[in-house]
Amino acid sequence: MAENKNDLMEKIVSLCKRRGFVYPSSEIYGGFAGVYDFGPMGVELENNLKAHWWKWMVHKRQDIVGLDSGIFMNPQIWEASGHTKGFSDPMAECKECHTRIRADKALDEIGVVADEKMSEEEINKLFDDNKKKIKCSNCGKQNFTKVRKFNLLVKSNLGDFTDSYSTPAYLRGETCQGIYVNFKNVLDSQHMKLPFGIAQIGKAFRNEISPRQFLFRLREFEQMEMQYFTRPEDDMDEYEKLKDYRWKAILSLGIKEENIRWKKHENLVFYAKEAYDIEYNFPWGFDEMEGVHARGNYDLTQHSAGSGKELVYQDGETNDRFVPHIIESSGGVSRLFLAVLCDAYNEDEMDGEKRVYLKLKPSIAPVKVAVFPLLKNKPELVKKAKEIFDILNNEIQPIIFDDNGNIGKRYRRQDEIGTPFCVTVDFETIEKPVSTRGDESTRGGDASVTVRDRDTGKQERMSVSDLVAYIKSKI
Ligand code: ATP
Repeated sequence: MAENKNDLMEKIVSLCKRRGFVYPSSEIYGGFAGVYDFGPMGVELENNLKAHWWKWMVHKRQDIVGLDSGIFMNPQIWEASGHTKGFSDPMAECKECHTRIRADKALDEIGVVADEKMSEEEINKLFDDNKKKIKCSNCGKQNFTKVRKFNLLVKSNLGDFTDSYSTPAYLRGETCQGIYVNFKNVLDSQHMKLPFGIAQIGKAFRNEISPRQFLFRLREFEQMEMQYFTRPEDDMDEYEKLKDYRWKAILSLGIKEENIRWKKHENLVFYAKEAYDIEYNFPWGFDEMEGVHARGNYDLTQHSAGSGKELVYQDGETNDRFVPHIIESSGGVSRLFLAVLCDAYNEDEMDGEKRVYLKLKPSIAPVKVAVFPLLKNKPELVKKAKEIFDILNNEIQPIIFDDNGNIGKRYRRQDEIGTPFCVTVDFETIEKPVSTRGDESTRGGDASVTVRDRDTGKQERMSVSDLVAYIKSKI
């Protein structure tokens, strides 16, 4: 492990750049705050995390279906949901250097409990009472404006040809609104019976006052949200089940249980019945990774009123009509990505050298296997290695062929991206023909390779005919 937690954050940021996980946005133009680009390794890891979520939240469940709604929606949706008025964070500005800070987070950092749901008066009072302890994160001075609420919705001029932004089409601030407004469509076309859920993964945009902590607080990010519709009397039972289910789903990614915890929201919005976050122990301490919230019937009621269309459920047997209650699971891909990297980051010493390795669960590792010819300048080794690469690549993806640099360096590179297995083709391999039959008739008579385990560095000799089955069983 890295010596201290700040150190760990720096090391992860640098590994992400060095190994192609994450790059700062628009870097050659000096960057663009609140946006990051995912590189070749990052996009694989990100896709694996999303696939894991989809498997748990849609494919494993007969009662949940998927959706992919548009980023742009009718602006009335954001009126009805309350976002145009209430989707804001408390902001103060340093009068000296004009840096803007989030007042609730600045209070949090000095141990004063505050959150974005507080009224402007409440947060101004707290901020005033504590202003001697709050310093500007940029210049260190203590001269701030009053706190005001800043709306986080990002406006666009889509469909507005006056360039006035007078009727802004917002970039969605959260993905779940697309779910609420499709409730009737899904209900009618899929003949869903309560309780049932609708899940979606997609981009969301927020004009965050101070994007920071690497991937934690972005202005453009992806959300994974599932809204579960229940009978009003069943919502809290289903809520407990969903909490339990999400906890298990996160553990199944290989995240250590001691690094996550539940945090109850003390200050609930008026319609919410209960709200908990799953926090991860990031390098700066425990912080929100995802939420599980019981939202009552607020969302469907608001959109019924806003659209004039009844968003109700009719019981097929009793003919009762009612507005279902909603419980939701809402998480950010980039926060999970960062948590997974923090959890997997390891340092140790191997063969007398310091090494960094990502102890990722093989199923989410960006690359599953790397195939190396022992030496680059021996055509017979390279040819055989390519033959074995093709056999593996037919069955397992993605895998990498690497003949660049000495074998030790190649192992280190794969360790740093978390590749669970390295297969090396050496002089013993080329003594025998390659077979993929994997039965008794060929065992021992066909080519063999070494298979190196990322975590222990141990190498095992194995016949090529056993290789695919062995690796498949591990990933
Ligand atoms: P925070 O209190 O940290 O601002 P939030 O409570 O506003 O977050 P929600 O609106 O509940 O967050 O969004 C659900 C999830 O979306 C969060 O748990 C988080 O994983 C993710 N998320 C929210 N805002 C951001 C952001 N700016 N950057 C990255 N992920 C985010």
